[in-house]
Amino acid sequence: MNNCINVTGGAKMADTAIALKSNAQSWLPEAKKLLIGGKWVDASSGKTLDVVDPSNGKVVAAVAAGAKEDIDLAVKAARKSFDTGKWTSMTPSQRGRIIHKIGDLILDNIDEFAELESLDNGKPITIAKAADVPLSADIFHYMSGWVTKIEGNTIPISTSGIYAPGTDFLSYTLKEPVGVIGQIIPWNFPLLMAAWKLAPVLATGNSVVLKPAPQTPLSAVRLAEVMQEAGVPDGVVNVVTGGDDTGAAISAHDGIDKVAFTGSTEVGKKIIQAAAGNLKKVTLELGGKSPNIIFPDADLETAIPGAASAIFFNHGQCCCAGSRLYAGKKVFDKVLEGVSKAAENIKLGPGLDPNTEMGPLVSDEQFTKVQGFLDSGKKQGATCTVGGEAQDGDGYFVKPTVFTGTKPSMKIIKEEIFGPVVAVESFEDDDIDKVIKEANNTNYGLAAGVWTSNLARAHSTAAKLRTGTVWINCYNIFDAALPFGGYKESGWGREMGHEILDAYTETKAVTLVT
Ligand code: NAD
Repeated sequence: MNNCINVTGGAKMADTAIALKSNAQSWLPEAKKLLIGGKWVDASSGKTLDVVDPSNGKVVAAVAAGAKEDIDLAVKAARKSFDTGKWTSMTPSQRGRIIHKIGDLILDNIDEFAELESLDNGKPITIAKAADVPLSADIFHYMSGWVTKIEGNTIPISTSGIYAPGTDFLSYTLKEPVGVIGQIIPWNFPLLMAAWKLAPVLATGNSVVLKPAPQTPLSAVRLAEVMQEAGVPDGVVNVVTGGDDTGAAISAHDGIDKVAFTGSTEVGKKIIQAAAGNLKKVTLELGGKSPNIIFPDADLETAIPGAASAIFFNHGQCCCAGSRLYAGKKVFDKVLEGVSKAAENIKLGPGLDPNTEMGPLVSDEQFTKVQGFLDSGKKQGATCTVGGEAQDGDGYFVKPTVFTGTKPSMKIIKEEIFGPVVAVESFEDDDIDKVIKEANNTNYGLAAGVWTSNLARAHSTAAKLRTGTVWINCYNIFDAALPFGGYKESGWGREMGHEILDAYTETKAVTLVT
């Protein structure tokens, strides 16, 4: 079982079926500690959490099981570093160089990060190396350039004539860091989620306490080491590994000025309630049930593999997974057949095997949850064309699955599955409004895909979809410069791009008599 508390707290030897080739091999055996105030310390309780290889269910490492008292210590350390200006007293240019160096060091250690990520989460090593790690470096490189460009405005005001005739004023705004930030992240892209959170916090001059997901804590711990090596001062970045209660200790903590959360909508709602105590600011990146629409005029040679990848990438464990696929009647049979074939041909295996195309689900819990959705789809009368069951043998493998013949009221259509499961349905080729209405018929609003060769249709559909991202003739394209986030119950605020700078800064208006 993932996420078990291990009371002995002893170091563990890595026991992976496939030998690690990078420095990860020597890094892994020693139990990982918490980074608080620049020091690596055990959890106050002395307890550790087991880290499990999801391809075989074996324990491969241990990390400190941080709890409420450790969050208290980390918040104190973050506050001290913030109040003493450890980070902000450096020039923006110096800070930018350190942030840039973090990106460089991630790339210098790409093999190690990729192996840790693959081992911990189960994702194919080839994907970790081609996507997760370089994208994580990118956000630090991108954010390093913003540090010297965070600026306020001078604002002409008209007040003098009304309240103080004859007096002239100068008004301007300052952009200041919010203070101590609490960050809580999920397990689906462990390193990337940590990078998306930490890079803008550093760029804007805040101090932070980050809690990785209990299932996948390793790469965030390694990233914290890299940040120290790059020169981030003690106490500015604190990393506390731990379970859900440890996250709850962050969202409820009165010493934290803002909480930034990525995870499920269900937990996002709890974060809002917990944050009400001291009215800390909240940003949320939550779940999705993303529609993907293939119009009859689409180039099927790209649309079919594109739609398959939209759902099966990262084993469907993507907040923006294209889990509801709509195809025009004229092309529906081809799309259903093509996506089903693609699903059938995906090579399942341990993430560390370079030939693997899809790894296991992250945990026993997720494995059970996804199987529950497969059973529910079948019970509620959907037709399964491929997959629909777990793979025999060790590990948390679920076969890529395609359903059709679904109804909007079915659980597999309404709820986020977070597994390799897609529902393919048809729509009347000319009834564009109806398919858009169906696409928008969800509480979520994270992302959507549109496949068409008609430019006008592409843009008008993108405008009507109630989602934070729309991909046209592509899917899952991310960039550090592009804001990402959700409408409706998919979240509050945006990650990345220059928009994120506002989420981590306060605006102060200053007026003086001239
Ligand atoms: P989760 O909500 O169960 O857990 C996320 C994090 O919150 C973990 O670190 C967990 O320990 C912590 N947590 C759990 N209960 C808590 C509580 N009561 N208070 C504070 N923290 C708590 O989500 P998960 O299963 O780790 O991740 C999957 C979810 O994340 C999916 O819904 C997915 O769509 C979403 N997600 C969204 C984005 C995005 O950018 N919108 C990106 C990745 C994942």
